[in-house]
Amino acid sequence: MANTYDIPETMKAWVLGDPHEMKMIEKPVPEPGPAEVLVKIGAIAVCHTDIEVLHHGMPAMVEGELPFNKDFTMGHEYMGTVVKTGPDVDEWAPGDRIAVEVHAGCGRCPKCREGMYTSCHNYSYRSKGHRANGFTTDGGFAEYAINNINTLVPVPDYMSDEVATLTVTAGTAMYGLDVLGGIIAGQSIVVAGAGPIGLMFIAIAKALGAAPVIMSEPREDRRDMAKNLGADILIDPLAEDVVEKVRGLTNGKGADFTVEASGAPGVLNQVIHMTNRGGRVCLAAFTNDLVPTDIAYVVSNNIYMFGIRGEGNSAVKRAASLLKQKRFDPSPIHTHTFPLEEADTAMSYAENQTDGAIKVVVKMS
Ligand SMILES: [Zn+2]
Ligand SMILES: [Zn+2]
Repeated sequence: MANTYDIPETMKAWVLGDPHEMKMIEKPVPEPGPAEVLVKIGAIAVCHTDIEVLHHGMPAMVEGELPFNKDFTMGHEYMGTVVKTGPDVDEWAPGDRIAVEVHAGCGRCPKCREGMYTSCHNYSYRSKGHRANGFTTDGGFAEYAINNINTLVPVPDYMSDEVATLTVTAGTAMYGLDVLGGIIAGQSIVVAGAGPIGLMFIAIAKALGAAPVIMSEPREDRRDMAKNLGADILIDPLAEDVVEKVRGLTNGKGADFTVEASGAPGVLNQVIHMTNRGGRVCLAAFTNDLVPTDIAYVVSNNIYMFGIRGEGNSAVKRAASLLKQKRFDPSPIHTHTFPLEEADTAMSYAENQTDGAIKVVVKMS
């Protein structure tokens, strides 16, 4: 028998006001359309990108404009329960416990048709069918959200709401490894930068059999976290010559795969120099400034570089499958929890890394 839920007419939701301003208001509970479901949010993690959106708007956009003062709700790393389905939706049913990926794309542009829905040419145009919850359509710092059926993945019973919010972050790391070539068992990998995404690269690379798995990170508490998640070797780039160290660990050759997950100036150049000939570099962090790089080294060593955006190619599904198989445990990354009413405090904890915060989660009561 199908589950039925009492759904109120209005809900609590945080919305963007002016830049740097988020406020909680009461707004209508949205109605799912074709190929959509209504999700009752269980928990949502703060992402570094949410902080960018709060202060600068971008990369969030609504119909081609900045998202301020539009009653726009941000937040994209959430989980919850399907409570209502749109017309003719039979892929999901009320009662399904789900996590989400961000982008649904528009489904009509050439990039979406190629499957590259995170590179949709109709980005932000809901009028053309585009959805990227928390960026172009309302996200999860609210009691309910609408999701396209293709952005849902099942959450295993054993997993807590808080940890399930990390599924999308795991999907980003999975997508990065997909783009790098996917086959990583027995190959060496270095991840520079132990933020949430860098840590997920460590966990998933380890789960997929990469060896050795090397973490370069200046902060000791973050290096300890990387060790918990499966890093074989930890390097403090402020105390050691990280390029020499990686070469020493790889018969003088450099690592097969390298990941720039720090966004710090100068790190990309280090990452390039610790990459093997014919090796592959994943660019997984945004940088604010132009980054000088030794392009001659890249060219003369046949090094390939790949920028990734978000969690394309249904990578969240594969990450969720690995989680279901208990192939890695992301729970140490979750450090703090706040109620919905304190989402602004949660944002500030994540932004300032207060009390060692890594992933700060807002949990509904
Ligand atoms: Zn995110
Ligand atoms: Zn598109």
